[in-house]
Order: sequence, then structure tokens, then C-alpha cells
Amino acid sequence: MKNPNGHEIIQLFEQFSPKGLAMEGDKIGLQIGRLNKKVERVMIALDVLENVIDEAIEKNVQLIIAHHPIIYRPLKNVLTDTTEGKMVEKLLKHDIAVYAAHTNLDVAKGGVNDLLAEALGLEDAEVLVPTFETQLNKLVIYVPASHAEKIRSVLGDIGAGFIGKYSHCSFSASGTGRFLPGDHTHPYVGRIGQIEEVEEVRIETIIPEPLLKKTIAAMIKAHPYEEVAYDVYPLENKGEVLGLGRIGKIKEITLAEFAEKVKEALDVSIVRVVGDLTAKVKKVAVLGGDGNKYFMSAKFKGADVYVTGDIYYHTAHDALMQGLNMIDPGHNVEKVMKKGLTKVLQKLCQESGYSVEILPSAANTEPFQFI
Ligand SMILES: [Zn+2]
Repeated sequence: MKNPNGHEIIQLFEQFSPKGLAMEGDKIGLQIGRLNKKVERVMIALDVLENVIDEAIEKNVQLIIAHHPIIYRPLKNVLTDTTEGKMVEKLLKHDIAVYAAHTNLDVAKGGVNDLLAEALGLEDAEVLVPTFETQLNKLVIYVPASHAEKIRSVLGDIGAGFIGKYSHCSFSASGTGRFLPGDHTHPYVGRIGQIEEVEEVRIETIIPEPLLKKTIAAMIKAHPYEEVAYDVYPLENKGEVLGLGRIGKIKEITLAEFAEKVKEALDVSIVRVVGDLTAKVKKVAVLGGDGNKYFMSAKFKGADVYVTGDIYYHTAHDALMQGLNMIDPGHNVEKVMKKGLTKVLQKLCQESGYSVEILPSAANTEPFQFI
């Protein structure tokens, strides 16, 4: 097991939730502190408030990964006799770094919206509001015939070669490779200063951009040659569509029954409901956070009910006019990401052999009380 530094942990995390998925102008990434230090404990939080910082200090955490950015509007100053200033001071004094993954974590596969859809039991969930299309690449590798099978399985296991519901897709053709090993080389076959001919296989496969670096690294590790010949071509083919919110199906029940289900599934004591409580609902759209501006997407995609936070009075009126039922369980239900992301990062760290503890913040950051 290896003791990772902050950079190594964030590199892993960004394979899951790449920065490139964030909406324009969003405040994401490292916001406070530094990553070039040993990290033994990471805490996953929804918000970074004073109670969360105190918890991090108490639990000896070196890095907080939060969904909501701690610095959202530009800071004009850091005055340590104000609450905001004190928070920054505490974090710096205790050398606790804060990294924010906001809309990129909403969009990410397995991120906030998938976690919400899963909690609500949505089946065949699809993206509600597309925001991103994955770039596809063709990867071509030249490998001696003896190692072709090994390379193909490395590629397939990492997730290269996905076409629709088919995995491990690749194409191979045999040919002859030639090379002349120069001075100070250690060729796998052949001799220094002599042109060598080898029976090689050209393997082609397709790879989504987020997997490219990881795949090339694994392929080079498995390849017998000192210098590996490979090509990467960007493709025009359409990649996977990612985005905000999810829409899927549940077993048909009434709006009132579904509202009860939402309370239980998302661990809240009340929800606000817009629409006819006796209406049957089957197709459900969900969007974490403030989803006011996307309610028409839910309507267009045929949702019977739209679950989102921070619904405005006027959005509720508009939805009623459109005949769209809505349920507002509050913005804080995004807390589902604390445990969800903890599991994801634990798994990634384990796979990389990192000795680090990942824990969800236990602090409550719901500002509202319901009486
Ligand atoms: Zn949010």
C-alpha cells in the first residue's frame, strides 16, 4: 500500500468527475490550501460550513472534497474577525485543503444526479438536460504477435472498445514491424545497430476521452517493448451524452404516494408538492440542486412529476399551468453524495493501492428547520 499525496487522490477523483464536465463559469477545483502533502484522511462534504470545518479538524482530515464551492462569489478580502474569514483562517492553520466538484459532479456518471435517481428507484434512467458529449478516440497499437492477446484484454478490462452494449470490441491485422535499436537501448528483440523485422499485430479500438490516459498507461505497462508505437486519432463519431438531471420510470403510483416515497428515500421530513395528489405518476424526472430553469425539459420529455430543489412560487404556477406535477424535497437532499462519493473514492483508492481513509462528513448543513 502506498501513502498518496493530495495530487494523486485528486487525479483519481478527476477520472470519475472530470473538470471538463462543469458548466461554464462554475467555481471548481482546489479552492483553499495545497495538494503537495501526504493525505491520510479525506472527508466528503456537501457544504463547507463552520461545523464541517470543526469536524474536519477533530477527525484529523487533510483534504475536504465538497460539492458546493466554499468560494463562489469572488472574495474581496479575508478578515479573520468575520465568519467567512475565520473559516479560511481555520482551514489554513490546520493545513486542510478544500477541493470543490460542483456541476461536474452533477453531470458525472455515478455523480449527484445518478445517486438521486438511484435513491428514488428510477429504472432505465437517462440524462434529462444534455450538456456534454464524450469525445471518442481511436487507439492503434503495434504489438508483437506473442503479446497481442494480453494487450487486447488489458484494453477491454479498462473499458476501451465499448460500442453500444458490446464491450471488448477491437480489430487486429498482422504485418511486419521494423526498427533499428540505437545506442544505449535495451531492445526486447533484436540487437543494437541492426535492423530487426518482427511479426506484429496492429490492434485498433475505440476509447472515450476520459479513459484515454489511463488506458495508454496500462497498455504501455503490459507491452513488452521499451518504446511502444501507438497512434491516437480523434473521431467524429458521436460519443456518450452526459448532462444534468435524470429521467426514468417507477411502478405507477399516485403523486401523494410518490411524495411519501421521496421523503423516505431522500431522508427528509417534509416535501412541497405541486399538482393533483391523486394523479398517477410513472415517469419521474429528478435534478439535484435548484432545477427551476429546467422544468420545461421535464415536461417535454414526458415526465409525470419533476423532483428538484428550491422551487420558486412562480415556477410552481407555471408548472401547474403546464400540467406538470412537482416535488421539492429541498436542496439539502444532495447530501446523498456524501456516502455515494465516499464509496466511489474508496474503491478507486483501493484499486490504486492507496492507503487513505475516506469518510463522509457527519455534520448537518440543512439551514432550514421544519416546525
Ligand atoms: Zn447544489
